[in-house]
Amino acid sequence: MTGRKEKSIEKREKRLQEISLLRTIPYSDHQRWWSAETIAVVTGANRGIGFEIARQLAGHGLTVILTSRDTGVGIEAAKVLQEGGFNVDVHQLDILHDESVSEFTKWIKEKYGGVDILINNAGVNYNLGSGNSMEFSKTMIETNYYGTKNMVKAMIPLMRPSAAGARIVNVSSRLGKLNGRRSRIEDEALRAKLSNLETLSEELIDNMVSTFLQQVEDNTWQSGGWPQKFTDYAVSKLAVNLYSVLLANQLAERPEGRKIYINCYCPGWVRTAMTGWSGNVSAEHAADTGVWLALLPNKEVTGKLFAERRELKL
Ligand code: NDP
Repeated sequence: MTGRKEKSIEKREKRLQEISLLRTIPYSDHQRWWSAETIAVVTGANRGIGFEIARQLAGHGLTVILTSRDTGVGIEAAKVLQEGGFNVDVHQLDILHDESVSEFTKWIKEKYGGVDILINNAGVNYNLGSGNSMEFSKTMIETNYYGTKNMVKAMIPLMRPSAAGARIVNVSSRLGKLNGRRSRIEDEALRAKLSNLETLSEELIDNMVSTFLQQVEDNTWQSGGWPQKFTDYAVSKLAVNLYSVLLANQLAERPEGRKIYINCYCPGWVRTAMTGWSGNVSAEHAADTGVWLALLPNKEVTGKLFAERRELKL
């Protein structure tokens, strides 16, 4: 093993230990802006990181709506938490299907009157190891980017006014960075436009992903200047990260009391079905930064990408 690799493993281990300690510090009364009436929706919560986020949020005393695209699986997962004494409700939700999203939106509005926290966790990845299969690129972009956007657009009108502000947390990835060490948009002009709030727009992000998908279809993506590893996954998460920056900027204009804060985080390489249980971080640890962001007492944090409770440069 190279010295550099050893050092970075050591650094990560140390940070994991620090976070384990941080997690033992309870929130004080003045930090706890939430209560049992606070409603947190978690997508793809029937397993993996989503289930763990649901468990931890419920453990902090919130009401958690565990959603799952398979009704039966969702009910079983929710039962585990309900039997543990947690305040957890369950509903079917497939973020790719408009009917499912609107049925869920109607249900939650009628039953709870609104939402305070949305955790966009549902996602897919079909690349295993360092493989770079393009076979499922469309599903990946649609689920990870458009599915997340569908949920954000459906839930924002339901987000309740509060002094603490409503929160959106997107479970994303550090692979989705503009200038990452392992992933980078090579086209300098595009990178410049995407990194400038004056030129960043939803159309620009949508165009970026459709150009990518068109190149996949034409089999020209290799020379398109896209991230070289986990390419389709990296593009999907880059789109999520950029959309969050854009939206954070727009939402910042809302008046005090009606604010909505939106952030992304990378959970690390996690032992879940997605990685064939080959990650180096447990789901429990992977959920931590998402839960921390959702409950952050400091409400000014928005439009950022985090990993292990620290901000990363996009
Ligand atoms: P899992 O594969 O264990 O869980 C993914 C969840 O998303 C499942 O509940 C799945 O439902 C759900 N899902 C997929 N498509 C849809 C859809 N169309 N509608 C609703 N739900 C859907 O993966 P993880 O827990 O590891 O991943 C959770 C999130 O973390 C993802 O966004 C992923 O990209 C991100 N992430 C994971 C990393 C890792 O190393 N594991 C690294 C970086 C980011 P079903 O059970 O029905 O398939």
